[in-house]
Amino acid sequence: MLSNLKPQAPDKILMLIEEFKADTRQGKIDLGVGVYKNPEGVTPVMRAVKAAEQKIWQDQTTKAYTALSGEAEYRNAMTRMVLGDAPADRLASLASVGGTGAIRQALELARLANPGVTVHVSDPTWPNHLSILKFMGLPFTEYRYFDAETRGVDFEAMKADISKAAKGDLVLLHGCCHNPTGANLSADQWDEIAAILEKSGAIPFIDLAYQGFGDGLEQDAAATRMIAQRLPEVLIAASCSKNFGIYRERTGILLALTENSAARDMTQGSMAFLNRQTFSFPPDHGARIVSTILTDDALAADWRAELEDVRKGMLELREQLASELRNLSGSDRFDFIAHHRGMFSRLGATPEQVQKLKTDAAIYMVGDSRLNIAGLNRDTVPVLARAIVEAGI
Ligand code: PMP
Repeated sequence: MLSNLKPQAPDKILMLIEEFKADTRQGKIDLGVGVYKNPEGVTPVMRAVKAAEQKIWQDQTTKAYTALSGEAEYRNAMTRMVLGDAPADRLASLASVGGTGAIRQALELARLANPGVTVHVSDPTWPNHLSILKFMGLPFTEYRYFDAETRGVDFEAMKADISKAAKGDLVLLHGCCHNPTGANLSADQWDEIAAILEKSGAIPFIDLAYQGFGDGLEQDAAATRMIAQRLPEVLIAASCSKNFGIYRERTGILLALTENSAARDMTQGSMAFLNRQTFSFPPDHGARIVSTILTDDALAADWRAELEDVRKGMLELREQLASELRNLSGSDRFDFIAHHRGMFSRLGATPEQVQKLKTDAAIYMVGDSRLNIAGLNRDTVPVLARAIVEAGI
């Protein structure tokens, strides 16, 4: 049986990690993998996470199963973090295995409710969105998003394509810090998207993987909250991997806003059922870290302060890179780097130019020219800027 298996397409980003590891050149720079790194190149355990783990270790008296949907304390704390004052009587929530698990369960839920559901995704989007959709055999279509000329959002094209989504279709939107481009909608543009969805009855499905990495914890949730205020049904897949730095703990949540409380009860039951069929109880440790932090004023304040330092550090690197490139290129055509938000920017380089950066300068980025700003520090920014100009980008 097992010899019938065919090779699966390898994950390009994970392959790039291996290639980088094997490169023996001094001063090589990894801008590939989507993990935050401090100026020393370390992905640190946040102070509040360490403190919460210590507290859990001291206080926890049992490792017995929790609940199929996850602990209420975690789900309530995350609901508050993402949605602020959510309409609780219409909200179902499910602890998940990372943000990826929340995306998968959201799509499973949509398929249970509407077996023919079509999903609209941005072009480009996080490659795993497409991979999961293909694996599940769900019909999907891409809406135009990135303007290769300005490296901003091609909003007219996006609106035209999203307007084609039919009632009951899912429209997958990045709540903030678009991956892979770094280009995001303004508040006014989000309002226009909400109006289009209100009119068509298509359902927003928001992937919120970088809350706190863009303009601030509250600001990054603003679009999601506005959509949740206005639309009758909304799915939200949120990840704690980046903003709590707990990547390997696999901590996320699926929030489903429903039309009324009866639909909420049905949805909550279906979501718990989906967990039961997939892995039964969701992982608890990461979720407990998050709820311990968010329900303790001092820990929450310290976590927010550290997250702000992380966010501001990335913004400074953006400003520095844009400024170096302005000087070296004698033009402002790289200013989009300072306007983009989150960990990523799509540079708009050709695959050949990306290859040249790797071969000539030992600078690694994803083939579509997505670079991870957090892979830089004050000393490597000028090195990258020079290499970009030398590669003719
Ligand atoms: N959505 C997007 C857009 C992402 O970039 C990521 C992480 N790379 C995720 C979801 C999922 O993150 P995780 O499963 O690690 O929580």
